[in-house]
Amino acid sequence: MTAHDQPEKLHPETEVVLKGRPEREPGGAIIGGISVSTTFRAGGEYIYGRSDNDTWKDLEAVLGVLESGKALVFSSGMSAISATFDLLPPGGVIVAPNSGYMNTSVQLRKLEANGRLTIRWVEITDTESVVRALDGAAMLFFESPVNPLLDVADVKRLISEAKSRGVLVAMDNTFATPIEQQPLVLGADVVVHSLTKALSGHSDVVLGTAVTSSDELYAKLLSYRKDSGANAGPFEAWLALRGLRTFPLRYAQAAKSAQVLVERLRSHPHVERVRYPGFGFMISIEVKGGARAADKACNAGKIWSYATSLGGVESLWERRRRHGDEPVEVPENLIRMSVGIEHVEDLWRDIEQALEKSQS
Ligand SMILES: *Cc1c(COP(=O)(O)O)cnc(C)c1O
Repeated sequence: MTAHDQPEKLHPETEVVLKGRPEREPGGAIIGGISVSTTFRAGGEYIYGRSDNDTWKDLEAVLGVLESGKALVFSSGMSAISATFDLLPPGGVIVAPNSGYMNTSVQLRKLEANGRLTIRWVEITDTESVVRALDGAAMLFFESPVNPLLDVADVKRLISEAKSRGVLVAMDNTFATPIEQQPLVLGADVVVHSLTKALSGHSDVVLGTAVTSSDELYAKLLSYRKDSGANAGPFEAWLALRGLRTFPLRYAQAAKSAQVLVERLRSHPHVERVRYPGFGFMISIEVKGGARAADKACNAGKIWSYATSLGGVESLWERRRRHGDEPVEVPENLIRMSVGIEHVEDLWRDIEQALEKSQS
């Protein structure tokens, strides 16, 4: 269930258009400006540009309503994730998936190596083993669907088991997006996003957010942002807000195309396996012929670009194991596909010709 199912709530399609605008007053602007001032006259609420900015506030208003909490914009998804890890006490135990977003794991390994945190790595789809790892932990951090294998965790059960043990729950909701899943409504404490991805949606801004419904956690995340300097640029925040206005439309189109492509990929002779969680715009396929064939296919795209990242209007695909830090659980021949908003028949024809070339 999402909060949007409640009849008194507006739908996300409406909220993303309505929120984060100037006051409704005669002669007032419909669109907010880009607030670039780094300092403010003494005596008011705002003091300095690292802590106060109206463009962030506009963007945060929309993000907050999408995730049913209070949002803080950060300079990147990783800085929002770092802020979340910073909620842990020194040496605190964090339960985290052994397979997931690559840079999250890299960051966790660094924090473990320098003694900041203790990590219990788990297989997140093995619910019972995750539950066993929760006793005595300070935080459960996970994502579902999992990048790039697209496995789905038992989100409800994991959140409720963690909460019943007093364990903080933080979720990276970048892949599911608030259209499919609202972790705070399910009881999680913090939700993070890479705004670089589908929420901004145009591959032209690096930005992140952390959202919480707890005043205490909000204050800690805010102080991390201010003190560490993980604040967003106003222009990036404005671009993200502009992109966010059309997010539900873009999402619906890309997810609809993904369903069609998944059906066809499943019966394609050069595809060994299709991974798809049943919703969303991300697909992973394993192609016949190993890493070489996968690279060939990615390079042969005329509409599909061989590039990392996801959630933009343009379709991208990538052989994930080209990155040295990608976990070995990810097959060498796996191509992660981020479906854009192009016409699905054009996308399919391009996939067909690229898969043909992959076998030559
Ligand atoms: C991209 C991504 C991040 C990191 O976000 P940046 O904006 O690149 O810092 C974190 N989690 C997931 C699932 C991502 O896809």
